[in-house]
Amino acid sequence: MSMPVCLTSLTFSELEDYLRKKDEPAFRAKQIYKWVYQQGKNDFLEFTDLPLSLRQELSKEFIINPLELSQTVSSQDGTVKYLFKLSDGYFIETVMIPSGGRKTICLSSQVGCKFHCAFCASGLHGFKRNLTTGEIVSQVLTLKYQFGQEITNLVFMGMGEPLDNLDNVLKAIRILNDERGLAFGARRITISTAGVIPAIKKLKDFNLQINLSLSIHSAVEEKRSQLMPINRRFPLSELVEAAEDYLRAGGRKLTLEYILIRKINDHQYEAEGLASIARRLKAKVNLIAYSPVPSLPFERPKPEEFQHFKQLLEERKVKVTIRQSKGVDIAAACGQLAGKFQ
Ligand code: SF4
Repeated sequence: MSMPVCLTSLTFSELEDYLRKKDEPAFRAKQIYKWVYQQGKNDFLEFTDLPLSLRQELSKEFIINPLELSQTVSSQDGTVKYLFKLSDGYFIETVMIPSGGRKTICLSSQVGCKFHCAFCASGLHGFKRNLTTGEIVSQVLTLKYQFGQEITNLVFMGMGEPLDNLDNVLKAIRILNDERGLAFGARRITISTAGVIPAIKKLKDFNLQINLSLSIHSAVEEKRSQLMPINRRFPLSELVEAAEDYLRAGGRKLTLEYILIRKINDHQYEAEGLASIARRLKAKVNLIAYSPVPSLPFERPKPEEFQHFKQLLEERKVKVTIRQSKGVDIAAACGQLAGKFQ
């Protein structure tokens, strides 16, 4: 007997194909999408407008939600971190970050990460596997329906490098965006990447209205290679060129992420280099004060140091937004909690 497949891995047309093979009428796909994405139901037997025989068959062949909640941790600032156990025993985390009127969900795309950025907890335990489409989609559904979170934005900024799992991430975005289901606006979805250039080139062709955010973290090639080893394979200069192509092909405005780490990447020449990249790409900079990870030798900048760096950028006519490091008291930096369990 084959293992059940996750229903939230199927696009609408894949679900239609499945039903067609079972000689079910096409409108069943719409009914199922409604139960799963608009009602948040996890049990096929509750899909009362479907014949019982089909509900039983679906229960045998599919699971709806592959995530098992293992732990939630809440921060004083309202950030909540959910630790989920996957069916093969690995752990991932999904974080809800409130800010103003927004509730942003930070999604994981892989178990662990291949890229070993020096400052990041996700890469510490190595790469285990890609998340399936269903495991990505279910993070959103679980937070929305089981935990009642009124989600306004989604960012792929949790564990893993989303462009290293491009097919499953894009499929998940299509499913979340589908009007017959959750209809989550593509413009409220952001993919954050360390700079997987071939995937940025592919992304251009998909013509999705999503936002792309590039992690820079140093404007100096050699230092960026030390902080982000991916820079040896895909150097910053080539990343900037790929980003220009992406914009020329009609991509939406870019954001540059910059995690400021004390005495590592907070020098004036870094601000100058970053400002020139931002001007070239007409991008705003999202500045983040580093959240310390125990066992890593990096420090958070002092508030005045952080302000100074921000001012250096602004003096160079760069628009800067500040992402408050949320959940510092609950180790909300990506991968910290799941890493403890892996
Ligand atoms: S920062 Fe992103 S790309 Fe780098 S190790 Fe962490 S998860 Fe991977």
